[in-house]
Amino acid sequence: MTKRKLILFKYGGNAMTNQNLKSKILENICALKNKGFQIIIIHGGGPFIKETLKVANIKSDFIDGLRKTTPEAMEYVEMALKGKVNGNLVSIINKMGHKAVGLSGKDGQTVLAKKHLHTHEKNGKKELVDLGQVGDVESIDTTLIDLLLENDFIPVITCIASDKNGNNYNINGDIFAGNIAGALSAEQYIILTDVNGLMLDKDNPTSIIHELKVAEINHLKEIKCIQGGMIPKMDSCEIALEKGAKLARIINGTVPEQISALFEHQKIGTIISA
Ligand code: ADP
Ligand code: MG
Repeated sequence: MTKRKLILFKYGGNAMTNQNLKSKILENICALKNKGFQIIIIHGGGPFIKETLKVANIKSDFIDGLRKTTPEAMEYVEMALKGKVNGNLVSIINKMGHKAVGLSGKDGQTVLAKKHLHTHEKNGKKELVDLGQVGDVESIDTTLIDLLLENDFIPVITCIASDKNGNNYNINGDIFAGNIAGALSAEQYIILTDVNGLMLDKDNPTSIIHELKVAEINHLKEIKCIQGGMIPKMDSCEIALEKGAKLARIINGTVPEQISALFEHQKIGTIISA
């Protein structure tokens, strides 16, 4: 097998706000495919889950940024992610002349999940809370993905997987992506989000950190630089690099030109290395 150059994109729901932006992002990603890179897209879709649950009249609470998910809600999460978001991304890519394959972690038993055991801190005390169908990655089997990549397909994978007993879980998209990027030793693991990268001061765009070592992440968490949605992103970069990805990078998906500029040696986004 020739040495592959694989780029794995994590595409977040907040950079999917409109059809035009989505097309631009996918165009830029497909341009990299045309340059000879292998491409994988892994996506979540928080805003779409929210919308679907609202239509179904299902209330859901968040604990520490995680959506408490009943088995009933899980059905709607799957409907939104697999039926709506995934199907739509596959259609757009196909229209661009590439061959996309829509999957979840369940297909080919690519991702084996386990229930996420969550400890929540309340009044200084740690307690275990049951978040229902919220999962973690137990293990990855890359057989199906390898097969698809070797045959020129673009796998588009949503962050749902089952455990050994067939229970379905919604896994944080960043963590899901980081694990797969690691298992495949991706050349680059690129997270598309709605900010230009990691900022030292979240609200000051000029405070962007262009380069970061994994060893520095803990300190940045302690000083509360890394917050909210950025926490699983940084954790996922750590997982990806630890497990074998060569480089991780956070860029702004709402500025699709950043994707085409990735290999032009410009200072774009935040680069995280081991
Ligand atoms: P996505 O849909 O891409 O997963 P999230 O909202 O989950 O998006 O995560 C991105 C958000 O993380 C940013 O919009 C920002 O509000 C937040 N964030 C927290 N800490 C930082 C930081 N230090 N630098 C940049 N963004 C941060
Ligand atoms: Mg997020």
